[in-house]
Amino acid sequence: LTILGIESSCDDTAAAVVRGVAGSAEVLTNIVYDQTTAHAAFGGVVPEIAARAHAEKVDVAVQQALISSDVALRDIDAIAVTAGPGLIGGVLSGVMCAKGLSAATGLPLIGVNHLAGHALTPQLTDGIAFPYLMLLVSGGHCQFLLVHDAETYTRLGGTIDDAPGEAFDKTARILGLPQPGGPAVEAAAAQGDPTAFPLPRPLMNRDDCNMSFSGLKTAVLRARDAVMAEHGGLPEAIRSDLCASFQGAICDVLTAKSRRALKAARALAPDLSTFAVAGGVAANTQIRTALSGLCAELETDFLAPPLKLCTDNAAMIAYAGLLRFTAGMTDDLTLSARPRWPLDQSSPAMLGSGK
Ligand code: ATP
Ligand code: FE
Repeated sequence: LTILGIESSCDDTAAAVVRGVAGSAEVLTNIVYDQTTAHAAFGGVVPEIAARAHAEKVDVAVQQALISSDVALRDIDAIAVTAGPGLIGGVLSGVMCAKGLSAATGLPLIGVNHLAGHALTPQLTDGIAFPYLMLLVSGGHCQFLLVHDAETYTRLGGTIDDAPGEAFDKTARILGLPQPGGPAVEAAAAQGDPTAFPLPRPLMNRDDCNMSFSGLKTAVLRARDAVMAEHGGLPEAIRSDLCASFQGAICDVLTAKSRRALKAARALAPDLSTFAVAGGVAANTQIRTALSGLCAELETDFLAPPLKLCTDNAAMIAYAGLLRFTAGMTDDLTLSARPRWPLDQSSPAMLGSGK
């Protein structure tokens, strides 16, 4: 099967072509146009600007994906598109593009849940068998998903407020470091002392898989203000200490909660063998090292797919579409864009927060 994927739910306009079958597929092309510069002046993603940029770029991305994979529309078996959750203007751009292509070519249309795309990535990249546990940790998401199969997920817990990537970005802003904050804070943290500031680790010792990161960012703000009051500025060495302390707190929480999530996942799925991470924060070396150490201790395989496929992309959407297509689940031109679309509808925890 050859599937065209389209993704436009946040601040990346992406198109990709994936070829293969369930459990063994290859990414032929993976085109991503990011909008970082368009939003840079505003310190965050502006939904209206994102929607406009997606509308301008989505057909270019599709064309580019087809050209660089040397695949014509007539070689495609189906068109998969992110139908939610996400910023509605952006999701609509992708869905309208996919519907137009489907109407013009007669190709089947498949609406894909963006989170399912992330959750199925370990199978696309490494052919991992179900069930597995997934930690999705990015700028907009933080949740543990037990992936039973392509259509069945148990959300074991997640953040009740900010996502860690958001906390990295806000911390960078508070400390005068550039965006995206993750890499900048990580680089500064490498020079600092993680024990210098005793920052809070909210909910860490609670016996569930939920997390909270917004208090941490407030604690960084208070610590910065105290340092500024004392020193009349923020000395670089102290800034590094703050970064190291902040990163250590995030890492501790993610590791403690991953331990709980693995235990909970094993109770529900005794044959589970792999713990996978995805999302931009999974690029962090300290976090990655801590999680792989945890897995070694718990005799679980650890998998962190290549970063290009674990941040927002359309290859994961194409692959999730391939699985739906294989299961005979296609949509028609009434497919609608959904700002919210929990993967695990039955979990009450999901109703409180879309993160
Ligand atoms: P999504 O819609 O999936 O949440 P996103 O664009 O918010 O998408 P990603 O593209 O997956 O998220 O990741 C971006 C986030 O990852 C940013 O918040 C960034 O600061 C964070 N990040 C990137 N590299 C690192 C790093 N080395 N350490 C910590 N955080 C990082
Ligand atoms: Fe995403």
